[in-house]
Amino acid sequence: MVDKELAAKNYYHGLLPREDIKEMLIENGDWLLRLTEPSGAGKRDFVLSVQTDKDNASGVKHFVVTRKDKEFQLMDSRTFESVVKLVEFYQKENIQTGKGGAQSVTLGRVVARQKWELEHDDIECTKKLGEGAFGEVHKGKLKKRKKNGKDKTVNVAIKLAKLEALTKEQIKEIMREARLMRNLDHPNIVKLYGVAAGQEPLMLVMELATDGALDSYLSKNELMPQGKRMEMTCQSAWGIEYLHSKNCIHRDVAARNCLYGGGNVKISDFGLSRLGEQYQMNPKNKVPIRWLAPETLKTALYVKKSDVWSWGVLVWEIFNNGIEPYPGMTTIEVLRFVKAAKHLDVAEKMDNKAVAEMIEKRCLEFTVDERWTMAQVVKELENLTAIKQPDRTEKKKEEGEKFQTMCTAASTTQSQMETGASEYGAGQPAGEKAVSTPSSYDQTPPIGVPGSQSVTARKSKKRKKRKDLAYINQ
Ligand code: ADP
Repeated sequence: MVDKELAAKNYYHGLLPREDIKEMLIENGDWLLRLTEPSGAGKRDFVLSVQTDKDNASGVKHFVVTRKDKEFQLMDSRTFESVVKLVEFYQKENIQTGKGGAQSVTLGRVVARQKWELEHDDIECTKKLGEGAFGEVHKGKLKKRKKNGKDKTVNVAIKLAKLEALTKEQIKEIMREARLMRNLDHPNIVKLYGVAAGQEPLMLVMELATDGALDSYLSKNELMPQGKRMEMTCQSAWGIEYLHSKNCIHRDVAARNCLYGGGNVKISDFGLSRLGEQYQMNPKNKVPIRWLAPETLKTALYVKKSDVWSWGVLVWEIFNNGIEPYPGMTTIEVLRFVKAAKHLDVAEKMDNKAVAEMIEKRCLEFTVDERWTMAQVVKELENLTAIKQPDRTEKKKEEGEKFQTMCTAASTTQSQMETGASEYGAGQPAGEKAVSTPSSYDQTPPIGVPGSQSVTARKSKKRKKRKDLAYINQ
């Protein structure tokens, strides 16, 4: 649908959703061209989005380009043989709006594609790596264009989202995950290179973790020495500590959501992550009981320290070859066990008993207030293991500035209810919201319409991964 001429234009942003667009249109007159967000498998139209009143939340106007035979049309009777021609015209002439063209809108500054908006032509898929919730994950290559002409090619992992199989909300969820990830930069967090949204399929391009998912790596490497497991323990802790320093709660820390590559654990799968101090989930959603902290099991509340508990479970997985936690117990038994202030036996398989004790006492601690923060855990872990995080002082300075921008963007959006379908495809409408300060970065509604084909597909794939998703109220 998108011709090469248009795809090459720097004002064309393809399938970027409104949430991303809003952040880009800053001054009055700022404009760009994008595709509509389809509802279901509907066709997409081009939309010219323009900031007309920056002090007003509804200041961005969206003009849909209509099609008449093979011609394109905006607000008046003029037709154009191509979208590029149409845009060129309205760059010179005001767009007449309102009754009889009573008002007019002027296109001012072009909002060009951002560094993280990648082009499909620069991405090459070479081999299928796995199956994600929204589509396939492939190994491939990304051409990174340099201003000096010396382009570089890097190996990457590419998440393909086949949009005809996805709802508008699912696309938004993918883009929300990308929005969150592009502000993160740490060796123990999977890096996002960018998003290719110019056409379908939508592509999320990430750093390639050469050894794939951590749970399967652990199960395939049963003879792994204690030292390497402890290194993995520290790396995952550093990743989560970093995430928390960015005011982000992961909400789904588990070996299945980590990757391993280049000798590093990488926290991944930010589909449920939220910015803020706490997050109140709807208790009617299905959740992975075995990884959840007592407060989440009791009241569906997530705080950063809930991640600390889940990290404790992750460490147990690391030392138990990635088997399912609480072996031999049903989910309902786990639910009762944890609610009765009991926890996993970390010391059983861990030689370093001091670390095991710290994790059991400080991370798998029933009371949130008594549980340690990830920063406290990291400090003690480094003391007890003498494994130190590589120095990131310079990086931290850069990030400080970058993150200021991210927080500003987050706090300008408003909290909004979600439906239960967004949680692991639980498929049941239910409300949940971020109750955080600043309000959560994700402001997306549900990822799926219950019963739609895509949700069913997501459900079955996630179920394969998480056999024991269950309700907390049992
Ligand atoms: P989703 O979160 O959409 O379900 P996942 O992130 O779990 O998808 O990806 C599915 C599988 O693809 C993983 O289990 C892993 O094997 C592989 N994979 C995903 N991302 C990467 C990556 N960056 N590097 C290597 N393999 C990856």
